[in-house]
Amino acid sequence: TTHNAASGPRPVRAPRGTAISAKGWQQEAALRMLHNNLDPEVAEHPDDLVVYGGTGRAARDWHSFDRISASLRDLEADETLLVQSGRPVGIMRTHEWAPRVLIANSNLVGDWANWEEFRRLEALGLTMYGQMTAGSWIYIGTQGILQGTYETFGAVARKLGGSDGPGNGTLAGTITLTAGLGGMGGAQPLAVTMNDGVAIVVECDSSRIDRRIEHRYLDARTDSIDEALRLAVEARDARRPLSIGLLGNAAEVVPELLRRGAPIDIVTDQTSAHDPLACLPVGVPFEEWRDYAAAKPEEFTERARASMAVHVEAMVGFMDAGAEVFDYGNSIRGEAQTAGFARAFDFPGFVPAYIRPLFCEGKGPFRWAALSGDPKDIARTDQAICELFPDNEHLIRWIRMAGERVAYQGLPARICWLGQGERAAAGLRFNELVASGEISAPIAIGRDHLDTGSVASPYRETEAMKDGSDAIADWPLLNALVNTSSGASWVSIHHGGGVGMGRSIHAGQVTVADGTDLAAMKLERVLTNDPAMGVIRHVDAGYPEAQEVARRHGVRVPMSEG
Ligand code: NAD
Repeated sequence: TTHNAASGPRPVRAPRGTAISAKGWQQEAALRMLHNNLDPEVAEHPDDLVVYGGTGRAARDWHSFDRISASLRDLEADETLLVQSGRPVGIMRTHEWAPRVLIANSNLVGDWANWEEFRRLEALGLTMYGQMTAGSWIYIGTQGILQGTYETFGAVARKLGGSDGPGNGTLAGTITLTAGLGGMGGAQPLAVTMNDGVAIVVECDSSRIDRRIEHRYLDARTDSIDEALRLAVEARDARRPLSIGLLGNAAEVVPELLRRGAPIDIVTDQTSAHDPLACLPVGVPFEEWRDYAAAKPEEFTERARASMAVHVEAMVGFMDAGAEVFDYGNSIRGEAQTAGFARAFDFPGFVPAYIRPLFCEGKGPFRWAALSGDPKDIARTDQAICELFPDNEHLIRWIRMAGERVAYQGLPARICWLGQGERAAAGLRFNELVASGEISAPIAIGRDHLDTGSVASPYRETEAMKDGSDAIADWPLLNALVNTSSGASWVSIHHGGGVGMGRSIHAGQVTVADGTDLAAMKLERVLTNDPAMGVIRHVDAGYPEAQEVARRHGVRVPMSEG
């Protein structure tokens, strides 16, 4: 390939099977998951080490990647590797309960926490953008966001329909308009059709449309607004699920659809708005995007923001016309406001609108990957989930549909949203299955940073908290510390994921079920304490639902005890 510092073979892919090259499975797991993040099946732009979300990287550069890999292979079971924004900076003697890897990505001191300063430092080779699961090595491809998106659109359906609305609690009979078919946004069409709805998804990169069709996340493609509308209305009237990728610039297409009075019921967006350089302005040809953004970042940013203002104005127009409109966590309202559009925050973010009630139960994006590479191992874990939670129809429906509809990218993996108590039960069961040999190799159990107690992000996960504590970032730091103290295999603290520089602080954890008694003890603690951080965070903010969950699960909150 073109990378001169690269020494190892490219492209990279996680080793499979039961033979390991590291000194233990905890280290091997980190090695495999790092490689897996950069597998061309998984990463959006693997040659640039970009996993997803604009420029979210797994390692600083290929040399750093090679040094991390070598360090993990060499690492003892009582040592800890330190990674500073994608670069291995130290190996320290700790102890066997300590994480094997501690990661800090993209963190900047408050007054310096903006894109301009970040890019200056990045250009000097001093930092990288870690997004959420890119720099913490637990991205599992588009399935990871599919479950969250499925949950969100399910909640939208319930809100729109109730039991007597258009779809009786599904999206049947509705049309959703959105944009962006990247690593995250690519889940939207399948999430809508799994809820029986019709989706038009605008995307300016033709290759992204083809990729989603290839992965069976998207049904059809067109370059014509007329055809997209015709197909959508036909399918809606037949109450037939259908997703359509429409090639175009969202900031042109969305206002045009509004102008035509298109019969759109739900509007959102998942272009990379959090990073103006990753959002194509109106009037810039797709082919000139990268060169232009690199040559004139300030001018490009200004044009991108102006486009987003036009786009958001049209979204507000749809809201005024009666559509259900929400910001899907990409900061597009903030960018539009910066560009001078006063009504940008007239529609809500998806978390207060749909997700917070789940967070109060400690629910969030629990996920796991089969380090063997064998899909049979995931099939066995799917079965285990259904056995553990036989009464949860919603969960079982998801597991069944995911098994049928989701094509694996990289190592076979699964995600489902589990709450307080459920995560620990699942983790311990997986560990037993590894111990008994029913699963052929260890399972890496982690989660997105978009979780109940692991993120402070006032435009997204912590938008409009009941007590106004949106920007308090102590919680994700305590989350990382408690996971480190509880026995996680690797723990990370990031800044700027999802919504961009200056706008979020968040933490990740991965804990490996290797079938040992030690792993069982660690899993029990981590998978109890990690979601419990979310429960106490929401108790502290005054949510009665969270107080009830804390009582039920014996989550101790000193301020409620005295
Ligand atoms: P990505 O960079 O992989 O994909 C963005 C896509 O938008 C690209 O395919 C790009 O071609 C397309 N695009 C850019 N400008 C466009 C325009 N003007 N018109 C049409 N298409 C355009 O990013 P991603 O990983 O898919 O994430 C999308 C956004 O969602 C990011 O801002 C991310 O931070 C945010 N996000 C949301 C959640 C959530 O839970 N809601 C989670 C993670 C990330």
